[in-house]
This record gives sequence, structure tokens and C-alpha cells, in this order.
Amino acid sequence: MKRIVVALGGNALGNNPQEQMEKVRHTAKPIVDLIAEGNEVIIAHGNGPQVGMINLAMDTAAKSAAKTAEMPFPECGAMSQGYIGYHLQNAIREELLNRGMNKPVATIVTQVVVDRNDSAFQNPTKPIGAFYTKEEADKIVAEKGETFKEDAGRGYRRVVPSPLPIDVTEKETVKALIDAGQVVITVGGGGIPVYEEGNKLIGVPAVIDKDFASAKLAEIVDADYLIILTAVEKVAINFGKENEEWLSEINLDKANQYIEEGHFAPGSMLPKVKAAMSFAQSKEGRRALITSLEKAAEGIEGKTGTVIVK
Ligand code: ADP
Ligand code: MG
Repeated sequence: MKRIVVALGGNALGNNPQEQMEKVRHTAKPIVDLIAEGNEVIIAHGNGPQVGMINLAMDTAAKSAAKTAEMPFPECGAMSQGYIGYHLQNAIREELLNRGMNKPVATIVTQVVVDRNDSAFQNPTKPIGAFYTKEEADKIVAEKGETFKEDAGRGYRRVVPSPLPIDVTEKETVKALIDAGQVVITVGGGGIPVYEEGNKLIGVPAVIDKDFASAKLAEIVDADYLIILTAVEKVAINFGKENEEWLSEINLDKANQYIEEGHFAPGSMLPKVKAAMSFAQSKEGRRALITSLEKAAEGIEGKTGTVIVK
């Protein structure tokens, strides 16, 4: 039996409720394969499109004649955890029952602690929400002090920081449930970023990278494996070029070399490789695997995917 944290990417979910409900039925299969083999499985997932949709809808409603309350970004993140968690736990429960397994599945609304002094707060990078003209953006900046940046010629968008995860607030709940043989969905969208102020946890408008949050969670729950499931079967060097080369196993030295040579795109593969590295180096014997959703089972058998080892 292994303890496995599975991090699901955008391709495991989908862009609207119908699509997501449909996609999670497929996503549930490799997850339940791992459970059926006797592993303890904890599921983490991204929320980019979903939290974007919720944030945009809430902003639009607040600006409309309905004048609903403005919804802060951490609350939008909490909503996205519930919405995605609902679909995942619904689909995984059904897939378990179809295979004669009666295991409880639950989603934990999860807060992830960040450092208020994280340098990321000085340099917001993650675009969220709607596009605005320069005039509209300048007005919001003056009113609310939010940061806006021009986004690839499409207009101005709010950007929020992407700080590193330090701790998972609900970790003891997550551990208790796994120890009790239950299936847990946690750190959705990288978790709701909070910082500590005495006994208070204060939500901040920020996005924790889900790959980093998953690696931190895997470390905290003492997992054997971190499996990052994405759209590609393996990590490549010279990705998309003529001399593209798919990697089966890389150690930390090689990974560092490839990072320096710029083989991994900053917004997509780089955080996965870095998250895999941080988990692999956190303790002897821990392995991180990056592969596709479809190949998850073969990947854990060592037949495919890219393994990152110490
Ligand atoms: P997710 O939603 O799973 O986080 P991302 O789109 O953020 O997915 O990251 C996965 C994508 O990274 C792949 O689909 C691929 O297009 C891209 N990518 C960038 N560099 C590489 C590389 N060196 N090897 C493999 N894939 C890469
Ligand atoms: Mg990503």
C-alpha cells in the first residue's frame, strides 16, 4: 500500500458545469484504479478556469442592476473548491460503487498558509477576471489599489501574487480521514491563501500554484508518491522542437540543469518540475511522477511518465 497525492490539471476538469461533470467521470477511473490496487489516495486539483468564471460572474453581478455584494477573491476560491469538489466526490463515489467498493469520499475546504512577506506580494503575476480598457483599469487601481497589467494585447486584467505554500491548515483533518480509509479531495486550486495574524487566518487575493500546494501537502501527509496528472505523458527537453526528447527519469541535478537551460515553460511545466523536485528531495524514497491522466496507472507501475528522483 502506498500513500499517493494525485494532482489534477485543467484537462481533468473542463470549462463549464456540464463539461466538468462529464470529464470527472473519466478522471474518476484512473483515480479509482489506484484505490482498487490498495493505495491511499488524496486528490488535489487546479481551479484556474473555474475560479476565473466565478470571479467574473460575481463581478458582473455586482456591477449589474442587481448590485449583489462584491465577492472577494479568496471567497471565489472557496466557492471553486466546493463546486469542483462536489463533482469529483460525486463521480469518484459512483466509480467506487460500480466496482463494489463502499468508501466515503469528501472534499475539505482547505486554507493554505502563505508568508505575508513572500516576495511574490511585491510582484503580482497571475491574471484573473475580466478584461478592461486602460481607463477602466486606471479607475479601479485608484479606487481599490488593485494591480492591473496589460495581457497579451487583449486588454488590461487584474493580476494577483502567487506566493509559495507554507502549511495546510486542515492537515490533521486530511490525515485523520486518510487514516480512516477515506478518499479526500483537498487543496483545491492550490488552497485558499491565508496568512496568520495571532489566532486569525486572513484570506488574501492571491493564487497558490496547485503543483506547489500539492507537493507541500504530499510532504505534510508523508506520502510516498506525488503524481502530477496533466495533458502530456512525459516531460520533454527541447519541447515542441525537432530534437524533442521525452524523459523517463531525471534526478535533481539533471532537473536543475534543464531548468537553467530553459526547457520548461514558466506558466506550465516549470512549476510541475519544481514541485516534483521539492517533494523528491524532502525525504529519502519519495518519488514524484509527471504523466497524463490516461497513463496514471501505467505510470505508477513504472511503465511510463517522467519520474523525478533525488
Ligand atoms: P495543467 O492544467 O495540468 O497544470 P499546464 O497547461 O499548466 O497543465 O501544463 C502542462 C503543459 O505544459 C503541457 O500540456 C505542455 O503543453 C506544456 N509544456 C511546456 N513545456 C513542456 C516540456 N518541457 N515538456 C512537456 N510539456 C511541456
Ligand atoms: Mg498549470
